[in-house]
Amino acid sequence: MRDRPGRDKSECDARMPQRTMPCERRLARLSIYGDIGEASSVTTGFASLPASGSCRLIRTRIPLCLVDGAALAADRDGLALADIAIDDGRIASILPAGTDGIDADHPPVDLDGGIVLPRLVDAHVHLDKGHIWPRRRNPDGSFKGALENVLADREANWSADDVRARMEFGLRCALAHGTAAVRTHIDSLGKQIGISWPVLAELRAEWAGRITLQASPLFGLQFALDAAHMQAVTKAVLAHGDGLFGCVTYMIPEIDQALDIVFRNAIDHGFDLDFHVDETNDPEARALEHIADAVLRHRFAGKILCGHCCSLALQQPRDEASIIAKVKEAGIAVVSLPMCNMYLQDRQAGRTPRWRGVTALHELKAAGVPVMIASDNTRDPFYAYGDLDLIEVLREGTRILQLDHSGTDWANAVARTPADVMGLAGAGRLSPGGPADLILTRARDWTEFFARPQSDRTVIVAGKAIDTTLPDHRELDHLMGAQP
Ligand SMILES: [Zn+2]
Repeated sequence: MRDRPGRDKSECDARMPQRTMPCERRLARLSIYGDIGEASSVTTGFASLPASGSCRLIRTRIPLCLVDGAALAADRDGLALADIAIDDGRIASILPAGTDGIDADHPPVDLDGGIVLPRLVDAHVHLDKGHIWPRRRNPDGSFKGALENVLADREANWSADDVRARMEFGLRCALAHGTAAVRTHIDSLGKQIGISWPVLAELRAEWAGRITLQASPLFGLQFALDAAHMQAVTKAVLAHGDGLFGCVTYMIPEIDQALDIVFRNAIDHGFDLDFHVDETNDPEARALEHIADAVLRHRFAGKILCGHCCSLALQQPRDEASIIAKVKEAGIAVVSLPMCNMYLQDRQAGRTPRWRGVTALHELKAAGVPVMIASDNTRDPFYAYGDLDLIEVLREGTRILQLDHSGTDWANAVARTPADVMGLAGAGRLSPGGPADLILTRARDWTEFFARPQSDRTVIVAGKAIDTTLPDHRELDHLMGAQP
């Protein structure tokens, strides 16, 4: 995008009614490019919107599963042709395409059948681990290699400045891609508790209005048996957190005792819960069932989200069905992390992987369990790639989990469902009166949508198109030091 000829923004604004046109403007050279003499540009994607923020997006296609409060008919892709009026940062109306007459207050912007989504919701990421890959690789792509190398990097490098810079970089990527809300896990052991949680609280405040940021603590379940540790994490969550607690569960001999401590702590403080669960190809790993049992044992009434649950897919069918029934009864929601799972699971040197690494998501959905997919790690030893782009997650998730040919409501998995689990009213859906937080694309159906990365998307926040230029990875070079 950087080398495309620019178009002056005022020229774009003056053209009404607007067709969808590339709209970029050259900015003064940024210092990071000064040495090599290149210019940078701001881009607001393919669509040109009036600067006033009031307009009608006409001939859009919107997933019916994400629409509330509008009577629309869907095509075989579950998409409805609609006109969306935007006023004062909110959606004023959603009507079948062509319903509206002349409306001088809302100049039309013709989307020509392009899919429009609400800004999306990422229910499971690790902003604090993000982008450490250049200084701490995973030597063999294994889960063990990921754990060991993140631990070593954390001990050596995770100062407040380091954590803040990498977390902020991740938030900038997410915003530019069209994400409205993020739940991040925060490594919470020893000295790191006092470093990362205050940074998280600062970033939450600074990013309010752009991205809603939630955080859940992350530590191995065995540390729940350490009263001093539980006290320190609980104190950090109460001071800086979002009423959300969690950890990574393992099949330790004391699993039920440790879960009881975590559940009692959550009930005492009114916390919701978020666990990393069974991220392994070992069918003996059945922490998900232990968590469901704990929910029922404690009559836990808060929201509860379990991530990964990979080994559920490797149970005998009868066992899988009985665990899923318990998960449903316990009111547990499940988030699958397809890109990270496919990277780490079933990896053995010299052997082609036979398993995609993902949980039994279709079976969970069929049983009525709220299911979603999310980004997980970005450019760290758990996942070498990623950019907190939920359109990429939905595209790759569709391929890895075969979400196609199984209903037309999977867009919920990166929008409405995570918004509900995170308690975000109005987010992840399109509704009259709701926020005009939108992603506009040129794709007219799901095959066009998933065929390309939608790099020319326009992202609208509170009725205004934002700069979708991604931060340059070079901005983090100064933190990468001597690279092992
Ligand atoms: Zn995770």
